[in-house]
Amino acid sequence: MDELKAIAKQYRGTKFLLTIMAIMTGLVVVGQAYYIVSIVDAVFLKGKTIVDVSLQLWILLGLFVARALLTFVSGRVGVKMATKVKIDLREKLVHQYANSPLQTFIQGQSGEKVGVMLDAVDEVDSYFSRYIPQVNQTMMVSLIVVVAVFFAHVPSGLIMLVTAPFIPLFMALIGMKTKEKSEEQVNQLTAFSGRFLDQLQGLVTLKLYGRSHQHKQRLKKQSNDFRDQTMEVLKTAFLSSLTLEFISMLSIGIIALELGLRLVVFDSISFFTAFFILILAPEFYVSLKDLGSAFHTGRQSLGASKKIMEELNKSVQSVAWGEEKLPQQKEPPTIDIHEAEFSYGEEGFTLRKINLHFSPYETVAIVGPSGSGKSTLLHMIAGLIEPHHGRLEVAGNSLYSYKEQDWFEQISYISQEPFLFSGSLAENIAIGRPNSSSEDIRVAAQQSGLTDLIESLEDGLDTQIGEGGQALSGGEKQRVALARAFLKKPSIILFDEPTVGLDLRTERILQESIKELSEKSTVITVAHRLHTIKDADKIVFLKEGTLIATGDHDELLEKVKDYQEMVRIQQGVMEQ
Ligand code: ADP
Ligand code: MG
Repeated sequence: MDELKAIAKQYRGTKFLLTIMAIMTGLVVVGQAYYIVSIVDAVFLKGKTIVDVSLQLWILLGLFVARALLTFVSGRVGVKMATKVKIDLREKLVHQYANSPLQTFIQGQSGEKVGVMLDAVDEVDSYFSRYIPQVNQTMMVSLIVVVAVFFAHVPSGLIMLVTAPFIPLFMALIGMKTKEKSEEQVNQLTAFSGRFLDQLQGLVTLKLYGRSHQHKQRLKKQSNDFRDQTMEVLKTAFLSSLTLEFISMLSIGIIALELGLRLVVFDSISFFTAFFILILAPEFYVSLKDLGSAFHTGRQSLGASKKIMEELNKSVQSVAWGEEKLPQQKEPPTIDIHEAEFSYGEEGFTLRKINLHFSPYETVAIVGPSGSGKSTLLHMIAGLIEPHHGRLEVAGNSLYSYKEQDWFEQISYISQEPFLFSGSLAENIAIGRPNSSSEDIRVAAQQSGLTDLIESLEDGLDTQIGEGGQALSGGEKQRVALARAFLKKPSIILFDEPTVGLDLRTERILQESIKELSEKSTVITVAHRLHTIKDADKIVFLKEGTLIATGDHDELLEKVKDYQEMVRIQQGVMEQ
């Protein structure tokens, strides 16, 4: 509960207000009982008329209204506080995801996780809107009621004190169980939505390979499991309410029995006192029981809040950039990698002891079998993932000593599947230079072979693309990414060549464009095409995360057996 308590601390003023209202509620409850009893006592036992007690009746009415108002207002205050907390948490989460979108993206499962986490914030609601107000209320009300009962009749007060602890005791026991279960449930929901999205995205593939039926079954099973888990949580919740109900009924029964015996058999208590206590006793137990259910919801929030806090704490691990200015020279900065290592988690893939030097204007091809860590190396050079050991130096200093923005202004990263955000084609091209003139955008589009496409579109460069807009083919996306690079004129271009064959036209455009761009920039390409590889000044050959060799095409052909093999296969493919 620590994380939630820490947040709740910021709302000290609100909590103080809630406490004041709780004390008032307690006093109103006792006052109500007092006036009900005195009216009944006066009218039924002392033979007074309604007119005689009209003042008391008015006061009682006032107290009823006051109680309703207090309940309403403290409910509102709780909801308000919960709303503020939720907005705050959501902002923090969004801020975190927005600040390290690359990290989130690279660590996988971004979209669905963001969705689930933002939903989890809703679960935190009950802690602030119900738990905190209820805890305040029940503590104060039951305290004041017990004090009042003690004043009226000590033995009844003692019975209350003895029976009361059973309620929190059971509450705690059940609560602990619920917490476990609800944590499990959140975990399951995360896993389930992740898998669901995966399968949705892979639907076409599944269909093509005739596996959709099997996956349907699996999905069905997963959703059934999730339902069972939810029912489990609900079962404990209902069971806990029942238990609490039972204990409080039993306790009220004991008090009633005691009062009845004293009143009728021993005649040792006045009707006024007995009735007064009998009215207050249910208030006392109801109050404790409410605490029980609030406690239960609080527990549920706890499971969710733990997840959120874990997520928020991750931000500490994101890449920390420095404040230094990246020197603006005519030529692109040198890049040096010393003994750099990176791994995806403990058991995950590891990139080992990479030593590389890239000079200005060099054209580099990173090659190797699929899964050898080429994209990972490119991510590292791009500054998207930080090496766990070793150094990555740009212009002679650690990359991370520079301002993040300085670095990203210098580079263009063209991924295998460039991302198009929803907006116009022009906006998508101008992403690296938002203030570009439309003439510059047009030139960049032309350089990257987009002119035909633009002319075929009714709205030309203003056509909406991305989510919900005009759909572009893989090759067209690649060309948009190229246009971004042409417009941005970065000093370093990092390019992850698509593995799947593009249309011939795009292939040719890519080829020519890279050549053109490489005159003004260092170009580092994860290369799959023999052309790109042969033309490179330097080839970096990776295998299973290890740097096997560097050199130009002829050198590697001579030295490296794996490379010969790869070239042989590539040529085979080309001749077919
Ligand atoms: P390549 O680009 O050479 O095909 P990658 O660098 O993409 O290879 O991946 C190298 C290895 O790292 C693969 O085994 C892949 O499964 C693993 N890997 C890639 N990205 C992640 C990630 N975000 N989390 C865990 N493992 C990853
Ligand atoms: Mg790759």
